[in-house]
Amino acid sequence: MYFNINALRVSLLISSYLEISYLDKVLKWCIRMSEIDPVCGMRIDPGRAKYKSVYKGKVYYFCSKWCMEEFDKNPEYYLKSGPRGMSSQIHNK
Ligand SMILES: [Zn+2]
Repeated sequence: MYFNINALRVSLLISSYLEISYLDKVLKWCIRMSEIDPVCGMRIDPGRAKYKSVYKGKVYYFCSKWCMEEFDKNPEYYLKSGPRGMSSQIHNK
């Protein structure tokens, strides 16, 4: 019984450590990836984004040429209804 409690403590310690470093990574990633592709909802790093478009004085960033072209075709649609949620659909599965 004593051993089991100790093992539990150790595994809790490890899991909480992993969780903290994981959250830290996610947080840093979120700060860096601060722009959202308005077409598919992906987070974009503005410093490395190849595809961007200026609409009404605001710069929008895209993950691909396809998303950029889609936005250019109908910017109001994406700004009003938001991203189509390609990525969130995958996450919900
Ligand atoms: Zn995209």
